[in-house]
Amino acid sequence: MLLKEKTAFYRVCFNSMQVGILVCNKNKKIVLANNPLATIFNYSIDEIHDKYADELFLKKNLFDDFIKNPTNKKYKNSLECIGINKNGQKIILELSFGEMIYENKFYYKALIADITERKKKENELNNINVQLEKEVELRNKELEKVIEKLKISLNKEKELNRLKTNFITLASHEFKTPLSAILSSSELIVKYSDLNNTEKINQHLHKIKTLIHHLNKMIDSLLTLENIESGEITPIYSNVNLNDLILEIIENSKSLLFFKQKVIFDKTCNETVYQDRKILKIIISNILYNAIKYSKEDSDINIFCKNTNDFIELSIRDRGIGIPEQDQPLIFERFFRANNASYLPGTGVGLNIVKGYINLLKGNISFKSTENIGTVFCVRIPKVLKNE
Ligand code: ADP
Repeated sequence: MLLKEKTAFYRVCFNSMQVGILVCNKNKKIVLANNPLATIFNYSIDEIHDKYADELFLKKNLFDDFIKNPTNKKYKNSLECIGINKNGQKIILELSFGEMIYENKFYYKALIADITERKKKENELNNINVQLEKEVELRNKELEKVIEKLKISLNKEKELNRLKTNFITLASHEFKTPLSAILSSSELIVKYSDLNNTEKINQHLHKIKTLIHHLNKMIDSLLTLENIESGEITPIYSNVNLNDLILEIIENSKSLLFFKQKVIFDKTCNETVYQDRKILKIIISNILYNAIKYSKEDSDINIFCKNTNDFIELSIRDRGIGIPEQDQPLIFERFFRANNASYLPGTGVGLNIVKGYINLLKGNISFKSTENIGTVFCVRIPKVLKNE
């Protein structure tokens, strides 16, 4: 007799399978099970043959669903489900259904593998992955923050370098020129004193004084900048007549005017405001002196003043060299000088001081300018009530 014809041989094969095999009838009564199936559910082989299929699974209609519709395509592949073993513990199973006919009766079989351990490992791996992803995300965020900080310090470094370069250019030009003039005047004084030429000596002494005064003013400006930035300046309010103040500034500017240059002011600011006189004077004179410096002979400069209930509004218009469009966004930056201004003396500090002071008074400053046509600066400062 051939092996394949021996029932005992079939049984051995059946019981040595890697998966559990369950066969039940249409009432879901288990009619055949192999040893591996009994092991999966922790029953003896006899105990399992006493069971109904439903008793082995958490979902009670698992077999009913298959029996009702065995051709449903969801049964083409294996599916995962939860089994309950003899001790009532849940086990994760991989199950594939099948249908068969024996002696004109339908039977339903399931190949079942215990995948609890595999699932546990998968879950652990998933958890590790999730943890890793979180970690990576966190690290990425930290990295982004560090990059952001680096960018900021790099920009600060660049800004600092730019300021340093500007300052060196300023120092070498604006400080060196008067200093060498002072040096040559003092050398000439020595020479003229040998010749007893008092007139020339006095001329050079006067020149030295003027230059030292100019240097002092420049150093003062730099110190003012430091004070504004460190918040050390607080406004000192008093009654200020705007007309008087503007006329005084115009008077002081007379020595700076070029040939036939005029400052026109229609005295429309006959109003007394409660403000810091010194600060107003610095703001207005800086803008006016620039208007004079950056325009030509025989040109008019207009000062307009507008009375509103809440603001002091001033504008100063010139018909000078104007500010090139590409330089306009940088005009209030410290030490910045427009391209077309480099042949005229200047430090690039004045407007930065003006802006600082206007901020201090909670006002604003704007300008419109066209190269070779002219510039108008507008200043708006809120009025302060005496009891504020
Ligand atoms: P500076 O000492 O160079 O005049 P400011 O800070 O007062 O410094 O002005 C900054 C720059 O703005 C000037 O160098 C100049 O390029 C430009 N500027 C200011 N006012 C005028 C103006 N009225 N017309 C043309 N350019 C101006």
